[in-house]
Amino acid sequence: MNHVPKAGWVTYLADEIPEDLKIEYENHLYSCDECLSVYLEAMEMEADSLFISTDIAGSVMDSIMRQKSAPLEEAAQIRKEKSLRTIARHYLIAAGFTVLLMAGGVFQSLTEYVDSVESSSVKETKSLTDGIIDKTFNWMDSIEKKNKEGFRNE
Ligand SMILES: [Zn+2]
Repeated sequence: MNHVPKAGWVTYLADEIPEDLKIEYENHLYSCDECLSVYLEAMEMEADSLFISTDIAGSVMDSIMRQKSAPLEEAAQIRKEKSLRTIARHYLIAAGFTVLLMAGGVFQSLTEYVDSVESSSVKETKSLTDGIIDKTFNWMDSIEKKNKEGFRNE
C-alpha cells in the first residue's frame, strides 16, 4: 500500500471512510513510521480545531441558545460529543503505538541497564556509579570548554 496523505488521515479521524479502508490504513500504520507521524500531526490538528470550537464562552452560549432552538443545537452537541469520543479513541491508539515503540527501544535498554546493575556486586555497582559521575563531570567539562571556545571565537 502507498503512503496515506494527510487528507486521508483527516477523513479517517472524522470516521468518514469505509470500514475496509480503515482497516487498510490501520494495518499500514503498524508498519510505517512516516505515516504514523503524519497521522499524529493530523490528530493534533483535529484536536486543536475541536478545542477552539468548544471554548467556555461557546458552551455557555450553547446552553442559553439551546432553550430557544433545541433541535439545531442538539445536533451540534451530538456531533461535538461524537468527535470528542473519536479524538479520545485516536489518542488511545496513538498511546498504544507509543508504548509499542518504546517497548522496542528505550524500555529494553533501561531494563538491561537495571539488570546489569542488579547482577553486579556492591563493589562493582559503586565503581559503575563512580564511572557515571566521572562521565557526567567530563561531559560538563566539555560543555564548559565548548562555551569558552564559543566566546573566544566571537
Ligand atoms: Zn506510509
